[in-house]
Amino acid sequence: MSEVRVDPNLDRYAARAAALRASEIRALFSVASRPEVVSLAGGMPDTAALDLEAVGDTLQALMAEDGARALQYGGGQGDPELREQLCEVMGAEGIDARADDLVVTTGGQQALDLLAKMLCDPGDVVLAEGPTYVGALGAFQSYEARVVHVPMDAEGMDPDALATRLEELHHEGRRPKLLYTVPSHQNPAGVSLSEERRHRVLALAQQWDLLVVEDNPYGLLDFKGEHHPPLVTLDPSRVVYVGTLSKVFSPGIRVGWVMAPGALRDKVVQLKESADLCQSNLTQALAARWLREQPWRDQIDRFRERYRDRCRALTDALAAEMPHGCEWSQPTGGLFVWASVPEGIDTGELLAKALNARVAYVPGRAFFADGSGGRSLRLNFSFCGEDRLREGVQRLAGVVQEELELRAAFGTQLDEGTS
Ligand code: PMP
Repeated sequence: MSEVRVDPNLDRYAARAAALRASEIRALFSVASRPEVVSLAGGMPDTAALDLEAVGDTLQALMAEDGARALQYGGGQGDPELREQLCEVMGAEGIDARADDLVVTTGGQQALDLLAKMLCDPGDVVLAEGPTYVGALGAFQSYEARVVHVPMDAEGMDPDALATRLEELHHEGRRPKLLYTVPSHQNPAGVSLSEERRHRVLALAQQWDLLVVEDNPYGLLDFKGEHHPPLVTLDPSRVVYVGTLSKVFSPGIRVGWVMAPGALRDKVVQLKESADLCQSNLTQALAARWLREQPWRDQIDRFRERYRDRCRALTDALAAEMPHGCEWSQPTGGLFVWASVPEGIDTGELLAKALNARVAYVPGRAFFADGSGGRSLRLNFSFCGEDRLREGVQRLAGVVQEELELRAAFGTQLDEGTS
């Protein structure tokens, strides 16, 4: 039994901090980082696929030629040259961006935090896919927004369900502040919003005058190198775009950005300045040089191909190993597979047994604000090599199989015991 400790600062916290709860699974994850555990839980890109020598050369040249500036404070909106280069990156997905409309942030995560801070009062409704990105949930909830989910299927968010949610909220007299979406290779569901649905979602946003926040870390990681049009290309005046170099270059440099039309962009700059004055000038200068001098498109191809092969290894292993009744998504890009186990098994409760069997995943409930997702789990395929992925799936399948057998033998008693 773990000891229940009362926080002695409870009456000091602001309501928004007091409402934050430590994740139940965090303690279990300290086990997941042990080397004997195959962790399918994280979301780490494979930075070993980078040309580290080229990154080192870029950093050395930066210090020799422009070191004093790189080690100085920068402007709140971000390095102008980097913003130009980021427009090139967005151009690879057909986005016609202007450097002036961008604000550089500490990864996409800070962009989400600043947008939540800018747009959400306590109790405000934010619409988001169900499941959705756990870091976005955290950002919205830390400003006490209420996240209402829109169900998804293999083609991404369901526009009919979105229409229903909007009607329901209207009848309750509530106007959602924004729609948050990861339309391409979503984390965690591993699916993309079809092109036809992109138009339908935006038509609904227009009908209900809804601001859309498009979070797009994975758009360039399509296994075939294809892409759906980002929402921002279809309705630039309604969509605030969040980008990041974390998945196409490095998460360690913490370079993300927001692209927003005029007044919204100015507010983001003010919030950014009050958060940390400015983004690290050093990593901005490194990223700008790297994008200017290195063949970054080839690097993205390397990531894509590696992840495509690993995804295939993972899904082939799932098909070969998982017991009847388990299901999973068939990603066409990104880093994640979303899977489900048969009725009666709770992936949150199963995690301790999985860790015991030396495999880790993220239980599905982490990706919902409303407690659903108990039969789901997220598996990452970007970090482990193919053999390790197969090993991980074998262990996971063994744990699920054992649970099914236990349930077949003692089903109702088990449920009573855990209720
Ligand atoms: N959005 C989504 C959907 C993500 O999956 C992530 C990273 N896992 C982020 C934003 C934030 O990433 P970063 O802060 O590294 O840019």
